[in-house]
Amino acid sequence: MAINHDSLPRTPIAIESSEEIRTGTWRTLKPVIDRTNCSKCMICWKYCPDLAIEIREGEPYIDYDYCKGCGICANECPKKCISLNKQELE
Ligand code: SF4
Ligand code: SF4
Repeated sequence: MAINHDSLPRTPIAIESSEEIRTGTWRTLKPVIDRTNCSKCMICWKYCPDLAIEIREGEPYIDYDYCKGCGICANECPKKCISLNKQELE
């Protein structure tokens, strides 16, 4: 049975946003999704320990307000389409 990704929950952390868990730009590495190779498998969403990846209209989006830059999403992505870039100070 096909998964309706739009029916999956959005980031619970973001919904119940709390200043204590907001990372903002607090990270050394920033994951960026290359959408040209993304298969929309949502494995990144499944593995993100901070629930910082949201699904919008069937595509993953990283909520940088809650991403700590751990790189797990990039490591687990089977298409290797998440790169880790240096976080620029804002
Ligand atoms: S794990 Fe990779 S291919 Fe799968 S949805 Fe995430 S970015 Fe796309
Ligand atoms: S780098 Fe870590 S916290 Fe950020 S989206 Fe990927 S898995 Fe989640």
